[in-house]
Amino acid sequence: MTSTRPDTESLILSGEPALEYQPLVDLTSGRLLGFEALLRWRHPDEGVILPSLLLPWLEANGDIVQLGEWVLAEGCQQAAAWPKNIQLAINLSIIQLRRGVGSSAVAKALERSSLDPDRLTIEVTEHAMVEEIAMNDLRKIGALGVELAVDDVGTSWTSFDVLRRMAVNTVKIDRSFVGSIEPQQGINRLVVETVVSLAHSGGISTVAEGVETAQQAAIVRGFECDAAQGYFFAPPLSIEVATELANEPGYCFAFEGAGWVANAFTPHSQRSAPAEHQPFSFGRDEG
Ligand code: C2E
Ligand code: MG
Ligand code: MG
Repeated sequence: MTSTRPDTESLILSGEPALEYQPLVDLTSGRLLGFEALLRWRHPDEGVILPSLLLPWLEANGDIVQLGEWVLAEGCQQAAAWPKNIQLAINLSIIQLRRGVGSSAVAKALERSSLDPDRLTIEVTEHAMVEEIAMNDLRKIGALGVELAVDDVGTSWTSFDVLRRMAVNTVKIDRSFVGSIEPQQGINRLVVETVVSLAHSGGISTVAEGVETAQQAAIVRGFECDAAQGYFFAPPLSIEVATELANEPGYCFAFEGAGWVANAFTPHSQRSAPAEHQPFSFGRDEG
């Protein structure tokens, strides 16, 4: 079968980046804790392109460094306009850390946006915990006062000793375990329970990723997982909807019902204007 779809390079050159924001929910209270910024690429003909297509290309040619700076600048500027109790998590690529430029990009975004460092969490994958150069940059990021989270935990089994030594604040349990947690005797259920208990014993907080059903929410809550993220609570949201949600004082998600429809956020306050948008183009002079 032949496809007329343009290759990744031309898709990227004729589109532009955007961020969506997925809510993070406190599993004790249902309170909105904050959002994870997720990269999208808006293409005039092809619509929205997801990171699974973009990232391998951007990482292979190094463009992720420049785009990663844009993600940090845009995300921090938006978060600075939200109420102070709302956190923002941003994903960093291993390439940014390996090149030792993740820390300077985070520092610049914080300075320009005036976002309090303790409102920002930097998410990295477990690979960043085994490469000395990447770990050095990560230590510098931690020294800026931001929180560190390890994403997709359970897929590579990094030692919890390393996570503690790297002063990791949070582990996010991969959705491949959370999404198949229902069988009573299932191995994935055991993985989630074990990760939560190992993390807690080292003073590390836990987030269950990819919670899609009320039952999964109830199980991870029963394991005393601290927070959750997933389509059951909310999909990644546009900046406009995320900003309305952020400005809804004390908004709580429900743990029962039919997910996003039942939990749907119904805005009744006036819309707050999102912060100024950061334009992006490759080769832009940052000066
Ligand atoms: P991640 O950091 O683990 O982000 C969570 C992914 O799970 C997102 O996919 C999100 O849309 C998806 N998701 C959330 N809830 C559910 C659910 O209930 N069910 C299912 N099936 N999926 C759910 P997305 O947006 O396609 O991002 C994929 C990955 O791309 C991210 O995984 C992250 O590793 C990477 N990524 C995203 N944005 C950035 C970025 O700005 N920079 C870098 N370096 N990587 C990014
Ligand atoms: Mg993430
Ligand atoms: Mg993840």
